[in-house]
Amino acid sequence: MDPTFNVGDKALLIDAKARRYLLTLREGGEFHTHAGITPHDTIIGRPEGSTVRSNSGARYLALRPTLADFVLSMPRGAQVIYPKDLGPLLILADIFPGARVLEAGVGSGALSMALLRAGAEVVGYELREDFAAKAQANVAAFLGDGFLGDGCPYRVELRDVYEGIDETGLDRVMLDLPEPWRVVKHAAAALRPGGIFVSYLPTIGQVAQVREALDAGPFVLGETIEVLQRSWHVEGQSVRPDHRMVAHTGFLSAARRSSDEIVLTE
Ligand code: SAH
Repeated sequence: MDPTFNVGDKALLIDAKARRYLLTLREGGEFHTHAGITPHDTIIGRPEGSTVRSNSGARYLALRPTLADFVLSMPRGAQVIYPKDLGPLLILADIFPGARVLEAGVGSGALSMALLRAGAEVVGYELREDFAAKAQANVAAFLGDGFLGDGCPYRVELRDVYEGIDETGLDRVMLDLPEPWRVVKHAAAALRPGGIFVSYLPTIGQVAQVREALDAGPFVLGETIEVLQRSWHVEGQSVRPDHRMVAHTGFLSAARRSSDEIVLTE
C-alpha cells in the first residue's frame, strides 16, 4: 500500500499529550484546535508517520488510522464491540475470506468492519433504521464505497432476527443482541452442518440461557470465554502493569452446528 497521504484519505493526528484526532483529508481543508490551524495540504503528499506542525508550532504525528483506531473514534449510536474482543471473535468464529455470515444486530458496525476486513460476506439484520444507516456509513467511511450496494459483500436489512433468518447454507451466525436464545432455532435452520454460532453477551445469566438453548438444539462443542487485556507501562526502568484496566466488556460464546445425519458403521 502506498504510504503517501492522498486527498480523501483518513488521517489520525496525535499530539504531544497523545490526544487523537481523526480527519478526512480535503484539498484546502484545515484542522483547527486551540493549538492553531494545520492545513490538510501539509499532510497530503507526505508519508504516514510524518510529523506536521500547526501555524502556532504544535506538532502532530500523522498516521492512517487502524481499524481499532477507527472503531474507537467513529460516530457511535449503539455500544460498539471493543478491539480487544473483535480480534478473538474473528478466531472464535473462524472467519475466512468468502465466509457467508449473518450478523445481528449491526449497531454501529464495528463487528461488521472486522468481519468485512477479514474477507467475509456479511448480511446484517438490524431493528433500528438509524443504526442500520450509521453502520453502513461507518463501513463506507473506513473500507470505502465498494463494500456497499449490489454485488458487494455488505448488505443490511431492517428486520427482527427473532422472527427468522431467510438465508440458508450460512457458514456463521454472529449475534450481539439481548436475547440470542430466541435465534438458536433460526440459526439451526440457516447454518450449514459444521457452521458456527457466536454470541456476545454482557451478563453471565444470558450466557447460561443461550448455552442451554444451544445444548437443546443441534449444536455441539459449546464454549464461552472472556478476554482480559492488561496493558503495561514501559518507560526506562519503570516497567509494570498499567494501574487501570477495563475489567469487563462481554462474554464470547460459540457452538457448532452438527449434522442431522447419524451414520453408524458396523
Ligand atoms: N456489534 C455492534 C453493536 C450491536 S448493539 C457493533 O460492534 O457495533 C446491538 C444492536 O442490536 C442494536 O443496534 C439493536 O438495535 C439491535 N437489535 C436488538 N435486537 C434485535 C433484533 N431482534 N433483531 C435485529 N437487531 C436487533
